[in-house]
Amino acid sequence: MLLQQPDIEAHPAGRTCRTHCPYCSLQCGMTLASAESGGWTVGARDFPTNRGGLCQKGWTSTELLAHPDRLTTPLVRDRRSEPFRRASWDEAMTRIAEAIGRTQQRYGPDGVGMFGGGGLTNEKAYALGKFARVALRTSQIDYNGRFCMSSAAAASIKAFGADRGLPFPLADIAGAATVLLVGSNLAETMPPVMQHFQEQKDRGGSLIVVDPRATPTSAASTLHLQLTPGTDSALANGLLNIAIKEGYVDQAFIAERTIDFKIVRRIAAFYWPSRVERMTGVPERQLYQAAKLLGKAPTAMILTARGPEQQSNGVNNVLSFINLALALGKVGKPHCGYGCLTGQGNGQGGREHGQKADQLPGYRKLDNAEHRRHIAQVWGVSDQDLPNPGQSAYEMLDAMGQEGGVRALLVFGSNLAVSAPRAAHVEQRLKDLDFLAVSDFFLSETAELADVVLPTAQWAEEEGTMTNLEGRVILRERAVQPPSGVRTDLEILADLAGRLGYGRYFPPEPAAVFEELRRASAGGVADYAGVTYQRIRDNNGLFWPCPAEDHPGTPRMFLDRFATADGRARFHAIRFQPPAEEPDDDYPLYLTTGRIMSQYQSGTQTRRVAALRESAPEAFVQIHPSMARTYGIGEGDAVRLRTRRGEATLIARLTPSIRMDTLFAPFHFAGSGRANLLTNPALDPVSRMPEFKVCAVRIEKGNS
Ligand code: SF4
Repeated sequence: MLLQQPDIEAHPAGRTCRTHCPYCSLQCGMTLASAESGGWTVGARDFPTNRGGLCQKGWTSTELLAHPDRLTTPLVRDRRSEPFRRASWDEAMTRIAEAIGRTQQRYGPDGVGMFGGGGLTNEKAYALGKFARVALRTSQIDYNGRFCMSSAAAASIKAFGADRGLPFPLADIAGAATVLLVGSNLAETMPPVMQHFQEQKDRGGSLIVVDPRATPTSAASTLHLQLTPGTDSALANGLLNIAIKEGYVDQAFIAERTIDFKIVRRIAAFYWPSRVERMTGVPERQLYQAAKLLGKAPTAMILTARGPEQQSNGVNNVLSFINLALALGKVGKPHCGYGCLTGQGNGQGGREHGQKADQLPGYRKLDNAEHRRHIAQVWGVSDQDLPNPGQSAYEMLDAMGQEGGVRALLVFGSNLAVSAPRAAHVEQRLKDLDFLAVSDFFLSETAELADVVLPTAQWAEEEGTMTNLEGRVILRERAVQPPSGVRTDLEILADLAGRLGYGRYFPPEPAAVFEELRRASAGGVADYAGVTYQRIRDNNGLFWPCPAEDHPGTPRMFLDRFATADGRARFHAIRFQPPAEEPDDDYPLYLTTGRIMSQYQSGTQTRRVAALRESAPEAFVQIHPSMARTYGIGEGDAVRLRTRRGEATLIARLTPSIRMDTLFAPFHFAGSGRANLLTNPALDPVSRMPEFKVCAVRIEKGNS
């Protein structure tokens, strides 16, 4: 696949374009300047989230635009045993359209499924959801954000009536006297955001970090609670127990703005500090210290990330921390609040506009008759024709190629063979499909399994909006033309819709799609009706809800009322439940997985960037030196990890920063080093989030 150098007609040499980083949800502001040589120079931009900072991933992001691995022509094959051959767009799209027709004729509309991604623009997420419901009439669509923020989203909706990751701007962090950060290593995964925490510290604030590992983030904290993996809700209940006993709860706030505290108070009584120390491994002394830092602070925030969320009890874990924030009266006030630190680039917008199995644009619901009517009217179809909610991501993947499951799958912006839990099983299910088409800019591990691969445009080659972790809608401007032969996902969907007889419903231009998204989201929870590309340019983005063009947007939510029917927040009775799998004689250690500084998600992009590859060239596992000695393992040894799902081979890294009973493996790597070969697909009953963050594992020296 030879790369044709993209031309830079959009921004000739010497011109700069203001845009945003392609990776995480901080969506750092950056500039791209086209050079005489035909390359691009990245500049950091003073945007409210990153304040002129970028991490290594942002600085090196343009390397991928002209990367030699770049796909620039569709690839097809007749049998999976054969190598790919180049094909015309017409042949590739004909094959996909025929496969859809064949499959739906035999298995019905639900025989075809779609899988999207939390890195896709709002326009694409919207178009994917609409394409599934209008052009395919299938209920089978979900996306990889199900594996990221779904537990926090579900918990926020239960407690507050709405899910906006951070219901306040990042800048508010600096004014919080205490921040409790649960299960996040921001200093490595999102370094520029630490400026906000540094300012908070400089103003005399405290930071409490909850993490089984000592990390650069915990090193910057006032207090580190190094809990046993999977015991998050026990810890939260223990802090609430102390807060009640010590008189830190805000009775006036509870009375005025919440309901159901009584049942939570009764449950908290069972989580006395010495018991919680035994359950969580966090010393009683630290529990008191943390409760005091939170309870005596005039302003405080509780922020969660994937640590407590990616568990089979993820929703309850988050709710237990929301209970604590509500009891302390630290929600719905300036410099206070509960927030989820969204991970993927468009993790927020990607979960608002319809690529989720149960969802319609504007955070509307497929099982709500009024919501269906509104969206059907915007789309110009009958609400009777819209399918019902489908299966969640893992359930859809697990059933692929099986009786009653999806038989043909279209994948956009996701690398399931690396990022899904129980990855070897998911890989087999991808092979079990009758037909697989993947749209990507590189031949990802999932694309390698496909029948048709479509080369798609990268972030700098098309415009579109993203919604960052604060709920701020931003605009990525197109800086360069895509290479010749490459199409955007919207062009792909428009072409395919035309072949299926639905062309008039699917414009290929992002601006046209966004105009329709505005109308579709109007009146919904995530209301973008007043957001325009120009207003985003003029205002450093706009926070939703923004219901009209003269509305300033909503940086801070819940100041007067919560988004529930009666305006009050809900407490939820949460009893600690252990993870689905705990260590035993056969699998004596905990395994937890996560991200590292120089890689991103499944690594399809970052493993191809030379500087990032140099920083983190191979899959590794962190192990405590004392535990390593027990197994005769030395630094740099190849080790084999086994769980009930499978085994992986990684390189041992010895570090006293991890608990004795816990191993940590990053999930960015492919092949036999895939951490997700090991992870447990036990699902949260509400969010359907798999348990990426904790399972039982054993470790052996050697790789044979
Ligand atoms: Fe990009 Fe996130 Fe790094 Fe910012 S912190 S440069 S958005 S990867």
